[in-house]
This record gives sequence, structure tokens and C-alpha cells, in this order.
Amino acid sequence: MFEKILIANRGEIALRIQRACRELGIKTVVVHSTADTEAKYVKLADESVCIGPAAAAGSYLNIPAIISAAEVTDAEAIHPGYGFLSENSDFAERVEKSGFVFIGPRPETIRLMGDKISAKEAMKDAGVPCVPGSDGALPDDPKEIVKTARAIGYPVIIKAAGGGGGRGMRVVHTEAALNNAVNTTRSEADAAFSNPVVYMEKYLENPRHIEIQILADSFDNAVYLGERDCSMQRRHQKVIEEAPAQNISPRLIAKVGERCAEACRKIGYRGAGTFEFLFENGEFYFIEMNTRVQVEHPVTEQVTGIDIVQAQIRIAAGEKLWFRQRNVEVRGHAIECRINAEDPYKFIPSPGKIISYHAPGGPGIRVDTHIYQGYTIPSYYDSMIGKVIAYGDTRDQAIRRMRIALSEMAVEGIKTNIPLHLELMHDAQFIEGGTSIHYLEEKLAAKEKATKGK
Ligand code: ADP
Repeated sequence: MFEKILIANRGEIALRIQRACRELGIKTVVVHSTADTEAKYVKLADESVCIGPAAAAGSYLNIPAIISAAEVTDAEAIHPGYGFLSENSDFAERVEKSGFVFIGPRPETIRLMGDKISAKEAMKDAGVPCVPGSDGALPDDPKEIVKTARAIGYPVIIKAAGGGGGRGMRVVHTEAALNNAVNTTRSEADAAFSNPVVYMEKYLENPRHIEIQILADSFDNAVYLGERDCSMQRRHQKVIEEAPAQNISPRLIAKVGERCAEACRKIGYRGAGTFEFLFENGEFYFIEMNTRVQVEHPVTEQVTGIDIVQAQIRIAAGEKLWFRQRNVEVRGHAIECRINAEDPYKFIPSPGKIISYHAPGGPGIRVDTHIYQGYTIPSYYDSMIGKVIAYGDTRDQAIRRMRIALSEMAVEGIKTNIPLHLELMHDAQFIEGGTSIHYLEEKLAAKEKATKGK
């Protein structure tokens, strides 16, 4: 096992990784920007290194600074967390070339999955069901593009091969709008991701977002840890996640889960990863793979009892998977609410000083956050400041516990989206379960209309 790991991230996930290291008896180095110097998790780490200014480009995205920090502290491995450099294949490669272990898949795998077209090809080869669409990249010829769309059937969605974070996508409903949309998406993709390649998919009108968590070691062993339902989204950003998914039979999950595990063996995947699917009319359609730990990993940890972050570390250290598929058992139900420092209905970020903080607790409640009373949330980064996870024997119990937790939780001095989460925990459609990826935005739009009408 490693003696010392460098954590190349910030906020709640930096603390989460630190906790996993501690439990495994590993020393930690945290790198941080000048904006995070005072954060408690930075002080809690065995060592810390300031790697640059508040703006992430000079710090959390600064590859040479992170590698130098690993060198001066004698760390053996680097955990990238999520976001920032976690899915940057060049970073993974530089880490390995500098003699450190990258806690994640091989750089080639990250590259393969980072291009959505090559990822889809690899998945098709492994028998993973994909959204019907163009055969790879769209050609230049407008007539060919029209033909492709006719064959798929409208509406279609134009997507950037290099896209991410919900950007680089455009839905097209009619042939008249098609070629314009393709051209616009191309130039946007070129500007945003330096890659103008786009492809086309059937636009699914009312799907759910269901994803499969997997773990794979370096010895061709791969298991799936069940599914998560992340359909409660706003602007393609997840707001609430849960495991298991309501009303999808375990048999169906096992079938797609087995395909995902098989795909991992086929591409020589290593570490933790997530296969994201849209789910409509009882069918799964692969959209992309995330080659890192995800924000929502705790719900899977709660229902399986498997520590995903520790598993990432043990696999990177060269351990063989220590359990088999038949040992993976999903028990009870877990729900996660992402707590953001923002106006709950206008969604304007609300950084600043937390004047008072009261954390929720009690049976079945887990809080993953780095905040505390007196902490100042910097304005430079994502507005997510933590996650509340409620576990119960049943979904109903998890919802009840979440309501109590949210009503106990008090974060004063800034605005948070706790009121929105509380409202959703009492929402009839959410309580019934199985809502589509559009549900939250439709609900918010209806609410806005109603308040304007008053
Ligand atoms: P990103 O990497 O930017 O997150 P994804 O491919 O994962 O991109 O898609 C993000 C979201 O866009 C999905 O969760 C879904 O809401 C929507 N989406 C993507 N592809 C389709 C599709 N073929 N039909 C309907 N919605 C889609």
C-alpha cells in the first residue's frame, strides 16, 4: 500500500479522499490555491502545498505545479477527485511519466472514453446498448447529414465529440433547422473544446438518467455496484441522486450491469467508473462514461457497504478485487441532496462567510462537506458546498430521514438550495418516483409562471 498520497482537488471531495487515506493508514498531501489556504481540510492534511492563485487555471489545473508538489513531498500517488484534471489524459500521462501512480484508469482509457464517438464505438463492440445515431462523426456534406437525420428520425440531437458538462449539444426538430444547427454546434465545439467534430443521436424525449457504477482491477476483474437514478437535473446538472432506481427490475439492471463489466474487461479498464445511460420505455441507451469518482458515489456506498474511494486507492496500489459480483448486495435505499451556495430559486451563486452552521445528524444521515462555522466560501469555484445523504430500509424511510435532516440543517450568512430540496422531498411526483430528466425544469418553470401571474 502507498505511504503517502497527494490529493489534487479541493472542497468536500478533497476531505472525502483524505478520510479514505486515513482509514487506510496513508499520509496525505493536499495541494491548494491561495483562496483555500485557511480551509480546515487543508490544515487537517499531513502536509499541504500552495500551488498557485485562486483562479483554477493557475492552481488546480496547473499540471507542473501539482507534479512539483508531489516531488517535493515524496508522495507516491495522485488522486484527482472529480472535475479539474480528473479526466485529463495528458495529466494522467504526465503523472505516470514523472514516476507517480495516477489513481484512475490508464491515460489511453481516459482518452478513449473522453472522445464520445470512440467511447460509443467501444461500447457497441462490447454489446452495451447505445442511443441510435450517426455512424461516428458527421460528414461535411449537408445532403449526407440530411439523409442521416431522416434515417434516425426527428427530433435528433447534435453533440460534440469532445463535449462535457452539459455543453456542446443542440436539439433539432425539423429538417429546415438541421444544417444550421450542425454548423453552430461545430463552431461552438471548436471554440470550447478545440475539437469541431460532432455526431448525431436520436433525441429521446422523456428519458430518465440511470447510471451504473463499476469497479475494475488490473487483472481483468470487473464488477458493477448497481445503479443510480440521477434524473432530477437542472441544466444537465444533477441535483438529487438515489440508489436503487425506482421501478426498474433488478434483472434488467443485472443485464446491463454485466454488459458494463464486460466492456471494462474488454478495454482493460482500471479503477472506478460510471456508465451513464438514458432509460426510456424499459430500454437503456449508453450516452457516456465517466472515468473518475463521481459526486454521487456515496449513495452507492450506502446501499452496498463498499467504500468506492478506498477501492480506487487499493486498485491503484495493485490489489486484486477482493470480492466478486455475487458478493455485491444492494440493501435499503439512499438519497443524496447536493447542497449549493446559491439562491434556491434564482440559482445565483451565493459565496461568502458562513456565520453559523448547524449540521444535521441522526440515524441514516451522512454529511459530506468541508464547511464549518466561520468558513468563507470562495467565489472562484463550483457552488456545491456539500452533500447530505439519507439512508433507509425503504425509499420512504430515506425520504423521511432526508426531510428531517434538511429541516435541521442551518447554514447562515449565505443562501443555499436547502429550501428547494425540502420542497422536492414533499413533491408528489418525486415521492412516487421515476420522474424524467425534464421534471425539475418543468416544475420550476410552472412555479415561475404561477408567481408571475400573482
Ligand atoms: P455531458 O458530457 O456534457 O454531460 P452527456 O452526453 O452525458 O453530456 O449528456 C448530458 C445530458 O444531455 C443528458 O443527461 C441528457 O439530459 C441530455 N442528452 C444527451 N444525449 C441525449 C439524447 N440522445 N436524447 C435526449 N437527451 C440527451
